[in-house]
Amino acid sequence: MTDVSGPSATVVESIGVVGAGTMGAGIAQIACLGGYEARLHDPVPEALDAGMERVRAALAKGAERGRWSEADAEAAGACLSPAPSLSDLSDCDLVIEAAPEDLELKRELFASLADACGREAILATNTSSLPVGAIAAEVPHPERVVGMHFFNPPALMKLVEVVATPASGEAALEATTEAGRHMGRTPIRATDSPGFVANRLARPFTLESLRMLADEVADAATIDRVCRLGGGFRMGPFELIDLIGLDVNLSVARSFYEQGGQPERWRPSPLQERLVAEGHLGRKSGRGFYEYDDSGRPVQPSGAPSAQHASKRRTGTSEEPTLDVDALRKIDPAAPQILPRLITQIANEAAFALEEQVASPDDIDTAMRLGFNWPLGPLEFADLIGAPSAVETLERLMREQGPAYAPAPLLRTAADRCVGLRNVFDSPEEPRTR
Ligand code: NAD
Repeated sequence: MTDVSGPSATVVESIGVVGAGTMGAGIAQIACLGGYEARLHDPVPEALDAGMERVRAALAKGAERGRWSEADAEAAGACLSPAPSLSDLSDCDLVIEAAPEDLELKRELFASLADACGREAILATNTSSLPVGAIAAEVPHPERVVGMHFFNPPALMKLVEVVATPASGEAALEATTEAGRHMGRTPIRATDSPGFVANRLARPFTLESLRMLADEVADAATIDRVCRLGGGFRMGPFELIDLIGLDVNLSVARSFYEQGGQPERWRPSPLQERLVAEGHLGRKSGRGFYEYDDSGRPVQPSGAPSAQHASKRRTGTSEEPTLDVDALRKIDPAAPQILPRLITQIANEAAFALEEQVASPDDIDTAMRLGFNWPLGPLEFADLIGAPSAVETLERLMREQGPAYAPAPLLRTAADRCVGLRNVFDSPEEPRTR
């Protein structure tokens, strides 16, 4: 392998995966299916055995279901080996860490990896929420440290975010991107910022829905139905929070709020705080925004999650997201208040992210389509609502509710010029704020 600090592209041939849990096993699976020599490490022998077994079982099952041939499964299995010790990864070109989400643990692990691996090896972390730069703090030659953020389950989710710290070298970033492609994923480039791209852009989906619920714009089942039938989302926000767990979603909200410097629009929902304190944790506790029976099925009457399979044709709405008032009214009389407000906050977050140069416009849209199965990317949603209308809504809400609705400067500029966010971003030589 060539030196990653140099300008030339690095070629990855072998991949080490550290941590053989949910993510590590899935990453090892797509690495060996991508033709890489893959080594899976876990310090807990039982976890390593279980991870190896999970990959082998997944390879066999995929062949059974025709996702790949028996021969491909066998070839991939032959490329995979266990690595009981970190030193077994010493000649890997790329090491992807998928150990528990704990900053101290990851820092120590990266220091050990820097000792165990060659000086040119790229060291990547699959962290979802920790700053990649902080994990790399003790690593000599930090130009070889990058984020490589896969989504769960890695074998099914096509997105991988390649995260650049200010110190990451271009050669390491390019080699990681190329490896992501060979592993069958669609890589996007992100800067090292809170939640990177997809998890950050998903913030308004749940946060704004919680605010609408608290403001009594509509109940949870109505908001969910409007998001599915009018917005084209696969799940409503409250169905999603119940599935993730209200406590887990709240701790993500708190982490964003703190890492972002406590911006009002990221303030965690007091309503959610109260529900968590009262033990409403979602499906796992039998009650969240909906109630569930012992097998985890919703026991709510009509409008509850079971309605998620309701046909759009029966309700007369289109398959595509729509802001047409008549179409929305057919879903629910409150829908024309709900969907524009949600999409406005999605557009606003996209504008803040673009302003902070978190990712390119195309990469932001790709992240949400592939990482969260959104029907449109945030910039496409921004085009649907139009910047002038989004700013008007934000200004009204800011007067009524406060600074959580402050419009992003880039969105204001797009509104002033009556152009899409993408156009403002593409012409940075013109002033972006008024
Ligand atoms: P997990 O708990 O399923 O697996 C973690 C594994 O790491 C375990 O097998 C454990 O034995 C092993 N481990 C413990 N200490 C270790 C050490 N010092 N060195 C190496 N391995 C060690 O966790 P997971 O869900 O696979 O998450 C792993 C990482 O991926 C976390 O950083 C998480 O934030 C990130 N992530 C998770 C998801 C998800 O949905 N689960 C999605 C994207 C990213």
